[in-house]
Order: sequence, then structure tokens, then C-alpha cells
Amino acid sequence: MCGFVGIIGVERASAALSMGLQALQHRGQDACGMGTVEEGRFHVYKDLGLVVNVFSESTLSALRGTAGIGHTRYPTVGTGVREDAQPFYTRRPGVLMAHNGNVTNVDELEKRLLGRGIHVQSACDVEPILLVFAEALSERRPQGHTTDDVVEAVREVFEAVRGAYSCVALCEVDGKETLVAFRDPHGIRPGSYGRSARGGWMAASETVALDALGFSVVGDLPHGAVVLMRPGEEPVIRTIEPLAPRPCVFERIYFARPDSAMEEGRVNSTRWAMGKRLGEEWAKLGLQADVVIPVPDTSRTAAQAMAEVLGLPYREGFIKNRYSGRTFIMPDAAARQAAHRLKLNPIPEIFEGKRVILVDDSIVRGTTVRRLADLAKSTRPAAVHMAVYSPPVKHPCYYGIDMPSKRELVAAKLPESEWATAFGVDSVTFLSLDGLRETMASLPHASHAICMACFDGDYPVPVSTGEVAAIVADRGRELPGTGT
Ligand code: SF4
Repeated sequence: MCGFVGIIGVERASAALSMGLQALQHRGQDACGMGTVEEGRFHVYKDLGLVVNVFSESTLSALRGTAGIGHTRYPTVGTGVREDAQPFYTRRPGVLMAHNGNVTNVDELEKRLLGRGIHVQSACDVEPILLVFAEALSERRPQGHTTDDVVEAVREVFEAVRGAYSCVALCEVDGKETLVAFRDPHGIRPGSYGRSARGGWMAASETVALDALGFSVVGDLPHGAVVLMRPGEEPVIRTIEPLAPRPCVFERIYFARPDSAMEEGRVNSTRWAMGKRLGEEWAKLGLQADVVIPVPDTSRTAAQAMAEVLGLPYREGFIKNRYSGRTFIMPDAAARQAAHRLKLNPIPEIFEGKRVILVDDSIVRGTTVRRLADLAKSTRPAAVHMAVYSPPVKHPCYYGIDMPSKRELVAAKLPESEWATAFGVDSVTFLSLDGLRETMASLPHASHAICMACFDGDYPVPVSTGEVAAIVADRGRELPGTGT
């Protein structure tokens, strides 16, 4: 999972990108990068670490120009080295590109490119997208590319590249620097764009980046289409290959910031609707509780909605330490418990003697929920009920969210009757599949289906057995997990 920002027509692109990337830091903390263009010359800088640590004032000053692209990286493939950080650049013709997503047929693309004498150098899957795009442009003409050339190059990408990807690129089109943005034919990964009062344009993974820079949001990047943006001009939007839109529901559940807006509306409202439905489903189970407690930070909105439906008090029972860094492998259980408490500490009075409902966004591997149950039980509650505002994750994601192979998914490994015991809680309740589907369909601006393949196994883009094996092998490298 990653975040991208593209901007054009601002006074100092690097300073603007730095702020936009900080607004998207939650989408990737492993590495970040930025590229700008100044009179046809590209300047690129990328490194491992957070945006505030990687970009000093002197680094930003060297990134000159009024247009640029920035990226925050959370690797779902690759080794997490600096060379895999984005954006990527190709000299022939001059194109700078960054993306969010996951390409499922990287091996096939690498073979195709190699057959034409083009080597893929990194383990980052934006590089094959960039090289397919650049090659298609160069085949039409070596320089002086037109809008039609870009449209045909994106068409070539849509035909050749499988998976989920939202991309931004900078290149010269019709003799002018142009910000180019496109989203895969199903629009699985998010992307939006907007304008500034001074005629500048911006595209980003989430609207919060546009908010941070004072840009007005125009809308979501259209799926299966390309948008070309130039300062002071209306954008050119060309529809190429739109298939049924299937944006990722997990963005709404967990990944995106609640203040971002996506197709069906504000993420906060979507989470509220999910929590409300979970409350309605929980009420039918005949269980009793005294208080609803969120697992911070993502679950707050849904927990408030659930508490309202059940007529129960909502209380903050866990305090999250914003300043804890990485905790390392600890030698014994007590030390591991200490490391976990460093990150999340319970307030005993909120739990003691009460039947509590802990609300969380999702359960993937089951490790976090076991730790949460241990922490809650150390405060001597009368009962601990786990309520999750998404269905059980039973299938891996191949489209850019780091969800492990099926054998690591706890809900796929254990029968439902064993979940509560395995997690160490008195009960565990998930939002039903129908509940999630109906909730999404009921939202005011809902006009599309969604991808919920990690819950129901209905993948919008088929993934072959060979592609699955390659993705699983790539994930076998040392990568951070979601840990949930
Ligand atoms: S499989 Fe799940 S996480 Fe992956 S894109 Fe679909 S909804 Fe999102």
C-alpha cells in the first residue's frame, strides 16, 4: 500500500509535495520520494524513512520546478530497499511516474520488455508500468508527443498490465509539461484530483492531500480513463477501457483516513454506517454488555455508531502511544507484553467489572486480537466481547494490501466455532457479508459495486495460479505485515 501526489502549476512543487505527502504518511512509512521538473530537466530524490526525516530544506531546494510527483511507500512486493522507492524515471522519452497498487503479471511484463531489449531494474512494480507506457509512447514517435499518443500509451498499459493501479506521471505532451493520471479499468485503488484557485492541478491517493494544500476536490480519478492536467487549462479526460468499477472496500474499513472522501462519500460516514449495521446485527445475538470501547485509532467512528445503536456508553479504554517506535523481538512473554503496552495501554477503571465490547476494524492473522484480549483481561472485566466491523478475512489480497497467504489467515485456518477461544475472548462477532454489501449499497452516493474479494473471494481481476505463486514468493521476503 502506498500514497502518491502529483502537482502542476504551483510556485514551488517540492514544498507542496512535502505537505501533500505528510497528509498521506499513513499510507506508507517505509520510504518516500519526490521528483520535480524544471524546463525539461527532472530532479529526483528518494530514501528510506518518513517524509519529515527524508526531506530537509536543502533537499527540497534542490528539487526545483513548478510540477512534481511524490510518493510514500509501504512495500507489498520487493525488499524495501531505497532503489525500490518511487517515483521512477525513464529518459526515453522523459517520463516520471509513481503509483499505488499491485501488478499481478510482473513476470510476464518483464519477459515482454526483455524481449524488446528493455531491462527492469527494481522489484517495484511501477517500473514495468512506466516502461510499457514509455515504450508505447516512443513507438508512436521519439519526441513531440500528443494527447492522442498518451491515450494510446495508457491503452497499451490497460491491455498489458493486470492488477490494480492508480498512477501519476509527468511528461511533455503537446509541447507543455503535463500531469497525467490514470486508474486501472476497475478503479480498485483510490485516486482523486482537484484544482487550486490559481489554476494549478493536483492528483492524489486521498482527498486529504488536496485539503492540506487548499485545492478544491473535483472528484475521483475515473476508472479505465486518463486525465491530462496543465496549469490554467481545463483537464482533458479520455475514457479508454472502463470496466465495472470495483473500488477496494478495505480502504474504507481500515486504510484511508476518515476525513478523506471516496466514490460513495466521506470515509467517516462509511465507517459510521458499518458500525451501525454491526450494532444492529449484534443486538440480535442476545448478548449483554455495559460499555463499547474502540481499538484506536481506526475503529472510533464505528464504535460510536455501534454504541448509539445499542444504547450503551462509549468510552476510550486504550491509550495509544503516538511516540513509540519500532519494538524488537523480545526474548520472553513478559517482555513482549511490555513492548505491546508501550504502544497501547488500557485504562483499568473503564474495564474493571464490566462486560465490554471491544470494536476493531478487521482480524487478519489474529495476533493483535489475542494481545488486545490479554491487555483487556489484565484489568479484570466481567466479560470481553470482540466486535469487528468487517467480515472475516478468508482470502488474500493480490491488489496492493499486504494480506498474507491463505494459510496465515486465522479465519481461513480455524472453524468459526473455535475463533472466540483462539482469541481468548467470550464472544467474537463479525459484520456479515450481506451486512457489508448492503451497507455499501445504502450509502447516499453509492453507484457502484465494490471489491471485497478478501472477504468473499470474488476477485475483479482474475489471478492465475502462476501469478499467485509469484506474489506469495515475493511476499516471502522480509516484509512488514499489517499485524492485525
Ligand atoms: S481483496 Fe480486499 S484488500 Fe484487496 S483490493 Fe479487494 S477489498 Fe481491497
